[in-house]
Amino acid sequence: MIDTDGARVWSVPMRTRFRGIDVRDGVLVQGPAGWGEFSPFWDHDLAHSRRWWAAAVEAACDGWPAPVRDAVPVNVTVPAVGPEQAHAVVTASGCRTAKVKVAEPGQTPADDVARVEAVRDALGPDGAIRVDANAAWDVDTAAARIRELDRVVGLEYVEQPCASLEELTAVRRRVDVRIAADEVVRRSADPLRVDLRGACDVVVLKVQPLGGVRAALEVAGAHDLPCVVSSALESSVGIAAGVALAAALPELPFACGLATVALLDGDVTSDPLLPVDGVLPVRPVTPDRLADVAADPEVEARWRARLDAVRR
Ligand SMILES: [Mg+2]
Repeated sequence: MIDTDGARVWSVPMRTRFRGIDVRDGVLVQGPAGWGEFSPFWDHDLAHSRRWWAAAVEAACDGWPAPVRDAVPVNVTVPAVGPEQAHAVVTASGCRTAKVKVAEPGQTPADDVARVEAVRDALGPDGAIRVDANAAWDVDTAAARIRELDRVVGLEYVEQPCASLEELTAVRRRVDVRIAADEVVRRSADPLRVDLRGACDVVVLKVQPLGGVRAALEVAGAHDLPCVVSSALESSVGIAAGVALAAALPELPFACGLATVALLDGDVTSDPLLPVDGVLPVRPVTPDRLADVAADPEVEARWRARLDAVRR
């Protein structure tokens, strides 16, 4: 059982606006197996948030399946920033793979080109670059943008260039770059049964949106495709669940998007899950800084109401 009276609400500013948010917040709960994180974004409804709660309960009550590896290669995540900042973020990370946000509302294709060029310069010729358009493009735009970005810097894959399965399938026929499916899986009513055949080459798995590590492993097993584990911008406690998933997958051919604690200006622990030489260790996280990142009373009340609603 989880003692929700002991739930702790945390809130930290983002270093750079990301996914349209400037502050990240959530709840940590403790159970017999350890700490679990419940941090659905505020634009997620109650039904979808229940999957996120299942992930927190799993972490706190059951723990995770045994790992098959003790370290997880990760990518640096580059927000939709200018080229100088993008270069600095990549250099500071020590990672050999970069995931670059593109197609940000209000920005131009030239902004994307300048950003990926700066990332290529920082990584050198041997680094891998993937881009994430978060379903922003139509099919024609996606085909044109992907071809140009691939010509300029070379792409490992492009994540969710368009919204629907049909569009992904159409884009995939028109470009030589791998397509990764993210939103189309995790926002599906049934991520196990969404028909990805022909639509993508890689599946992005996120622990909380899929309802936990075991649920995500089931999704991986249901689709005969390579998987990448990405975060939902969690604190290090939530990231540990992503690392547990990546560590339990039978195959892990690509670096994972789990280095996102670097995007937060603060964390729940004094020993954050940040990469060294592009790798995250598989280890537990102790949230020993909860008092330092405690949310203000208004935010705390909002989260407690959300917790009550999701458990009802
Ligand atoms: Mg994505």
